[in-house]
Amino acid sequence: MKTLDDLQFDNRFARLGDAFSTPVEPEPIDEPRVVVVSEAALALLDLDPAEAERDVFAQLFTGHTLWSEAQPRAMVYSGHQFGSYNPRLGDGRGLLLGEVLNDAGEHWDLHLKGAGQTPYSRMGDGRAVLRSSIREFLASEALHALGIPTSRALCVTGSTTPVWREKQETAAMVLRLAPSHVRFGHFEYFYYTQQPEQLKQLAEHVLSSHYPQCLEQPEPHAAFFREVVERNAELIAYWQAYGFCHGVMNTDNMSILGITFDYGPYAFLDDFDAHFICNHSDDGGRYSFSNQVPIAHWNLAALAQALTPYVSVEQLRETLELFLPLHQAHYLDLMRQRLGLRNGEDGDELLVQRLLTLMQTSAVDYTGFFRELGDSAPDQALSRLREDFVDLAGFDAWAADYRQRIERDGTDDRAQRQARMHAVNPRYILRNYLAQQAIEAAERGDYEPVRELHRVLSNPFTEQPGMERYAERPPEWGKHLEISCSS
Ligand code: AMP
Ligand code: MG
Repeated sequence: MKTLDDLQFDNRFARLGDAFSTPVEPEPIDEPRVVVVSEAALALLDLDPAEAERDVFAQLFTGHTLWSEAQPRAMVYSGHQFGSYNPRLGDGRGLLLGEVLNDAGEHWDLHLKGAGQTPYSRMGDGRAVLRSSIREFLASEALHALGIPTSRALCVTGSTTPVWREKQETAAMVLRLAPSHVRFGHFEYFYYTQQPEQLKQLAEHVLSSHYPQCLEQPEPHAAFFREVVERNAELIAYWQAYGFCHGVMNTDNMSILGITFDYGPYAFLDDFDAHFICNHSDDGGRYSFSNQVPIAHWNLAALAQALTPYVSVEQLRETLELFLPLHQAHYLDLMRQRLGLRNGEDGDELLVQRLLTLMQTSAVDYTGFFRELGDSAPDQALSRLREDFVDLAGFDAWAADYRQRIERDGTDDRAQRQARMHAVNPRYILRNYLAQQAIEAAERGDYEPVRELHRVLSNPFTEQPGMERYAERPPEWGKHLEISCSS
């Protein structure tokens, strides 16, 4: 176990030089206070949980002090936002403080979001509000606990510094951890600004630091692109299987590592709705729930364009064609598990599709359905769940086919089936209304609800006595909450 003073830095991205990032010091926020800390994230840096109690902890993560080895820098990138190319974005309010090398030999980027203005702030104030910082923290740690690849969050710190959004709020910072903060948009930036030397350097950095296995392949860049496609096919399968809607799948929010990245107006589905749009400024529904699959594919094509100096167009096209079948295979695997099935059958895709259509027309709670399906023996569970459906004939037909399907899958005893299903079907999910209640308490200065919600979501598959209220269906007011897109 380490103290904050023992962290070792190895700032590989900073060493790429000034074409890639600009040195910027964090601008501190006033009267720092620690809102919430993730012990699991502290462990990634080998940090003793007691370190979070030290004054220096709040000081470090509100920009008042820095490690002498840190090299805070704002990264430059560009990207496609809602389908249009924006030639220059970059860290407008976040800084890469440095890369910590842990005892396991892993590098973890320390990225402080809300750290003040940078050369990439454009018209922005460089700040993040408490509300959006808590949302990023909760989602990062909740997705991780569900087994979904994601950036992580170490802590949220708050302050008394005023920030103007729709109304006056207070500034906060979230410390994000990820093995890399390189986005698709980094590649696009150097490609479209015609900086071939820098594009080459970026690719070398990403390959040697994050995809060393590709360097052993005859065509390292082609192998790298293939792996990015594979990872995204799997990532989006997780999102679709667990009802996660990202909301802003611009290419500057797509991690080169294939992990969930840059949380904004995201939502987990309450009632199943394939057309759900969680981002209220997304008028056309470009980033609706079901569009996440073709949009990920589109984003990969945007990345492919930036790799044309290294890989033939024909080969990039062939690799892109792998995306949909790979995605579909992962998705079906996850859905089979969620339905308690162990072996695959040809008709499974249709069985899943029919269920989702029924859920859609009856606005059935997505997370609750799967958990309850595993709660008791199939007949009992199905007759209980039947009450949630409007199209009873449709449900009965589906239930009969599902019953036969689990017979063919092979019988197992009830306890085994329950354990298997509960291990993949969470009891607790980060519902927007739960986040909202915790945020409102935090805005009044009471951090306990955020901390408790984080604790509950850190063990989403395990029944937690006394925490039943977190497993309840949302009240009517809590469904389809308008989450502000400002952050
Ligand atoms: P996001 O929507 O958070 O992914 O941000 C898109 C771009 O806008 C990124 O380049 C951000 O750094 C920048 N940005 C967002 N909010 C602010 C802000 N309050 N101040 C400065 N830049 C910002
Ligand atoms: Mg972003």
